[in-house]
Amino acid sequence: MNAQAKTVDWKDEERQSLLPGYPQFPFVIARGKGPWVWDTDGRRYLDLYGGHAVSLLGHCPNAVVEAIRRQAGELLFYSTLACHPSRSRAAKALIALCGEAGSRVFFCNSGAEANENAMRTARLATGRKKIVSTEGSFHGRTSGALAATGIARYRQGVAGLGTDVEFSAFNDLESAKAMIGPETAGFIVEPVQGLAGALPPAPGYLAGLKQLCRDAGALLIFDEVQTGLGRLGAPSAAHAFGVEPDLQTFAKGLGSGVPCAALLARPRAASAVRPGDLGSTFGGGPLACAAIEATLAEISAGRLWENAACIERLIRAEFRFPGVLSVQGRGLLLGLVLDRPAKPVQQALIERSILTGTAEDPRVLRLLPPLTIGESEVHLLRTELIEILLMQAAP
Ligand code: PLP
Repeated sequence: MNAQAKTVDWKDEERQSLLPGYPQFPFVIARGKGPWVWDTDGRRYLDLYGGHAVSLLGHCPNAVVEAIRRQAGELLFYSTLACHPSRSRAAKALIALCGEAGSRVFFCNSGAEANENAMRTARLATGRKKIVSTEGSFHGRTSGALAATGIARYRQGVAGLGTDVEFSAFNDLESAKAMIGPETAGFIVEPVQGLAGALPPAPGYLAGLKQLCRDAGALLIFDEVQTGLGRLGAPSAAHAFGVEPDLQTFAKGLGSGVPCAALLARPRAASAVRPGDLGSTFGGGPLACAAIEATLAEISAGRLWENAACIERLIRAEFRFPGVLSVQGRGLLLGLVLDRPAKPVQQALIERSILTGTAEDPRVLRLLPPLTIGESEVHLLRTELIEILLMQAAP
């Protein structure tokens, strides 16, 4: 154990040196492996949240760690001014997993940046300005992404977000139809709304959106920052729901924790982008691309989405006990809808060394475990959750 880690109050150090951000877990994190993390006191936690859904392969997957080590010793960074072999290999791997022949990739650094560039590409491709989004959505914290975020409290008090975004009701094709027209550049949607509480699309909703966009000459954008890369029990939401959008955005687990993101443009959208239209200093850097290549190779070679689908079935079958009203979502983007507020349940789980998430819907306990999670970890959650729900007073 690191002696300094024992004596310094790191939480207090952060409070004194960082602007406030998210409410924090009650421990100081030290390391992670697979679905487990350890705090600085050596206590082990089962991580079913993955640092906001980032640890898609579990923590520190060997192949990715090795790839990063190798790349770091050769070249940490050069921008896209210089061609680098890892960049095209990473892009091809993403196209093979989630796109189609003729698709093109733009690498950047975060989900918000990918979404901003998706909306920019829709505007470039159509020569129009208006974006339609959905109520309850989350697309990121930079101003363009925030302008399209449908959870109103995130937009409150933020000036200059622009007026060219409209919000339709999620899962409501009539509401979408009323807003998609000859001035619409694109419709941006989370195929399963993550932060809202793992809300799945109604049958026919995504296909209906595609038709409405096609009829109006607008582009359909899937924000796959949470849904992509196997999490839904399929390589992407496009596969899971059988609907191909024009643009898809990926981030979170794309580099297993190395900050990176991607915009994937299918041929019609890709042909609208000219040299100089899009740019990002760090996007597509060698270190990030080495991490992306290794991450995608693991997902594809292991067909890890199949394990996600398998574990989803297990959770749906076994999480039928008092206190759990339903399981919503898809694959390993799941919300346990409780008969009571989820926050105290999440806290009690932390006390029993299990990390989960909450959602905008206060009754939803959100599960975002790695694609590699096994049955024994699910049973551990089940045992602890049954006890907590029995002990805590029902409403
Ligand atoms: N889109 C979705 C669906 C997200 O869940 C998030 C982050 O939680 C984002 C976009 C923004 O991603 P980032 O925080 O990497 O900018």
